[in-house]
Amino acid sequence: MSEILPAIFFGHGNPMNALARNPYTAAWREIGTRVAKPKAILAISAHWYVPGTGVTIGTAPRTIHDFGGFPRELYQVRYPAPGDPDLARRVQAMLAPTPVMLDASWGLDHGTWSVLAHVYPNAEIPIVQLSIDETKPAAFHFEIGRKLAPLRSEGVLIVGSGNLVHNLHAYAWGAHKPDPYDWAVRFENDSKDLLLAGDNKPLIDYEQLGPDAMLSIPTPDHYLPLLYVMGARQKDDAVTFPASGVDGGSISMLSVEIGTNGCRFCFA
Ligand code: ZN
Repeated sequence: MSEILPAIFFGHGNPMNALARNPYTAAWREIGTRVAKPKAILAISAHWYVPGTGVTIGTAPRTIHDFGGFPRELYQVRYPAPGDPDLARRVQAMLAPTPVMLDASWGLDHGTWSVLAHVYPNAEIPIVQLSIDETKPAAFHFEIGRKLAPLRSEGVLIVGSGNLVHNLHAYAWGAHKPDPYDWAVRFENDSKDLLLAGDNKPLIDYEQLGPDAMLSIPTPDHYLPLLYVMGARQKDDAVTFPASGVDGGSISMLSVEIGTNGCRFCFA
């Protein structure tokens, strides 16, 4: 494949998006039809946040329902995409000397499948998940993305799945749809400006960005997948935002696409 694939961060939000049809899922579907079909997907999900870096090595990764209290139909969703052990070993080699465990127990968690069920509804593209080492600083995760960037010219779509703003304490679960919190909107806007400017350092050192960042990122798990995608950015890559919105007042559904030059449906 000669085409260099983008790297995309998805704001996945509520797991029920897997079953929903809404503006977010429509934007995800549009990505699947617009982007050249990948040979494989490397997914970094907020929900595989563990001590250590690992890759899934199985040929038939299981669909993991890693949440509680949702309707039965969500537990019945299966996303039967195959694995790709060759890609897993390639990632392991690319990240040396960082030790990368070949993991036969994890599969696809909902950070991955709730989004990809819309992007690639046929589940035909092999997927490897890469864990987020919870013991490492933010710069480590950006650096891993940088090391993995060459995969984009090997037909691999790098996908990060989390949420730029993810504060469940402030989240409104009820039917009432609250306005986004001011701090959430400000942090999202500031982050978009930095992304568009290619100004990575403040986003890596996000703890220095002040109270808006602290409210938006109370724990790093949903933010860090963005750093992998940012790390995979090359010099001339455009940045676009194929999906945006704030759910429940405090969950940013922003998607960030690196490397697509000119997107009809995107808006900054
Ligand atoms: Zn999540």
